[in-house]
Amino acid sequence: MADIEVTQGASAELEALLMQRSLTDAQLQAAAETAADFRILPEATVIKIGGQSIIDRGRAAVYPLVDEIVAARARHKLLIGTGAGTRARHLYAIAAGLNLPAGVLSQLGASVADQNAAMLGQLMAKHGISTVDGAGLSAVPLYLAQVNAVIFSGMPPYKLWMRPAAEGVIPPYRTDAGCFLLAEQFGCKAMVFVKDEDGLFTANPKTDRSATFIPRISVDEMKSRGLHDSILEFPVLDLLQAARHVREVQVINGLIPGKLTRALAGEHVGTVITAN
Ligand code: ADP
Ligand code: MG
Repeated sequence: MADIEVTQGASAELEALLMQRSLTDAQLQAAAETAADFRILPEATVIKIGGQSIIDRGRAAVYPLVDEIVAARARHKLLIGTGAGTRARHLYAIAAGLNLPAGVLSQLGASVADQNAAMLGQLMAKHGISTVDGAGLSAVPLYLAQVNAVIFSGMPPYKLWMRPAAEGVIPPYRTDAGCFLLAEQFGCKAMVFVKDEDGLFTANPKTDRSATFIPRISVDEMKSRGLHDSILEFPVLDLLQAARHVREVQVINGLIPGKLTRALAGEHVGTVITAN
């Protein structure tokens, strides 16, 4: 009873503030924060299957992962997002050369993530796992309840409304951001990025042979060590720091069989990046 009164008092205060203040007023925002925490899909884990790092490698990388995902969904509820990769980079290069804006490049990139989601969907179809057009709910809870998994295209649907970067026309919010935002908005249990390296290194291991592995790091540390633009799209770091639910992500090597299964079980098998 007392709880109900407190809630009602708070919502009356919030309503009064909403009528009088700007929507970004500090007191109004504090009142809005008093609402109880709510997670929409708390049992689900989002996994992002890298575009360039995994899907572009074709069968050798994709088939074993498909087997692993199909087995894992017996025990886990999975939202499977796709990256874009080399085809998107090719499109970005052409479109940027034509002086087209970030919003147009965003749509071009999304079409490649869609292609990857379509292919994964064909591979998992016989297991009853479907690809959805837009992951913003619709039938997603039903798929999760019935078959524990659903595939979505990882690009966030900003399209023409993509917020441009300070410089250049490459869309700053791409599939790492799209998958992370979905995990955070749905209040999911965990977010796993499946790529082609063991995790974060002190430098890009593809070009620097002396790079060493970093098992765990915070966003601030990544920034202070100059690693903010490396294994994840850099805006994801700020999204992670501002998140309420998903306060850490793990980046794992999807080319090594078993790592995804272990990561889903909560094991630390790659690099854990923490909000603080
Ligand atoms: P995705 O396929 O999900 O888009 P990316 O190819 O964009 O993944 O990102 C993964 C790549 O990031 C790795 O293959 C690696 O070459 C590169 N990379 C750059 N800097 C680093 C770093 N410091 N540690 C690990 N990987 C790095
Ligand atoms: Mg990428």
